[in-house]
Amino acid sequence: MEPERKARDHRELGQLLDLFSFHDIAPGAPFWHPNGMTVFRALESAARQMNDRAGYKEISTPIMVKSEVFKKSGHWDHYRDNMFHFKNPRDTDEELAIKPMNCPESTYVFNASTRSYRDLPLRFAEIGRLHRNELSGTLGGLFRVRQITMDDAHIYCRPDQAEAEIRDIVHTITRFYGSFGFPTTYVLALRPEKFLGAASDWDKAEAALEAALKATGVTYTVAPGEGAFYGPKIEAHLLDSQGRDWQMGTAQLDLVMLPKQFETMYVDEDGAKKMPWVIHRAIFGSFERFIGVLLEHTDGTLPAWLAPVQAIVLTVSDGQAAYAQEVRDALVWAGVRTELDTQNGTVGKKIREAEVRRIPYILVVGEKEVAARTVAIRKDTKGFDEAVAEIGAAAKIPTI
Ligand code: ZN
Repeated sequence: MEPERKARDHRELGQLLDLFSFHDIAPGAPFWHPNGMTVFRALESAARQMNDRAGYKEISTPIMVKSEVFKKSGHWDHYRDNMFHFKNPRDTDEELAIKPMNCPESTYVFNASTRSYRDLPLRFAEIGRLHRNELSGTLGGLFRVRQITMDDAHIYCRPDQAEAEIRDIVHTITRFYGSFGFPTTYVLALRPEKFLGAASDWDKAEAALEAALKATGVTYTVAPGEGAFYGPKIEAHLLDSQGRDWQMGTAQLDLVMLPKQFETMYVDEDGAKKMPWVIHRAIFGSFERFIGVLLEHTDGTLPAWLAPVQAIVLTVSDGQAAYAQEVRDALVWAGVRTELDTQNGTVGKKIREAEVRRIPYILVVGEKEVAARTVAIRKDTKGFDEAVAEIGAAAKIPTI
């Protein structure tokens, strides 16, 4: 598929729309401007809404912990070069690490109570702020950062519950990407040559993942040998307007790593202590990267619910200032992020400026509109109440 246009770089769009900037003092970490923070917060709200509806409970675990956590999880041996860690200058016996991922810490929340089979599945969501020591030469805008905000979750479940959990995750991912017009495909990554745990558990886990994919009817390919050493996984890939493939969400089944290393246990129906399976899940992965992909995919024209400014009211001349203010106030009360432009200048110029800023709803009011209590939106004329209701609905975070 030939792209209709070459994508504008998201850094250029970030500047044009006044969303974020990068500065030498913070390599690989964006400074979010008010407009960018509005987008970020709307996305965060959407993530929380999806989580709430699907029965997730939100947790928050520390950014800085003792390095021993990552020694226990195995990251220290395999991932240390990508981690920020240091000795506490006031107590050199204390070695600390900035978390590069949330996984191990979620086990401390799980282990804070005795868990019964009836408590499962337990779905812990965390919008975690992570830091990874990427080489400075590899950093690039929002696509490769050192500070990552993830829409992470860890689901502790019984093996017989895994299939239904995975099915729900795949449904959510497909619906979420679909709402932006991204086609989604999946990859099912299976057991590598070297793996932890029992082969019979792997067979069950792989069968559960495949059954979940089949039940949802999505398109997927199988990648033998590509799973992690501790469990098979599903990767969600999206195709953007440029025909580029991005690996975004994942559902990773962990049969042994967290459960074994951190001794997470539940008491089963027969009274025996058993290890739950853990599903590591992310819908869009990193906020930073997803916003970058979305900006390039849409050339900055975000869906109305994510747009920093959702509507602007423009006057043709001074005579409409009071009415324009009334329209603006009604939109603000309907929950719409609205600006008002009553400055002198031709309406054509004001419209062009609003278009450059990618404001989804540009409302023009002139003498005719004041007299009829209407607003002009592009070539349409709408009644005051109708316009407020329609824009109010589009501005809301959609049910995904
Ligand atoms: Zn994880």
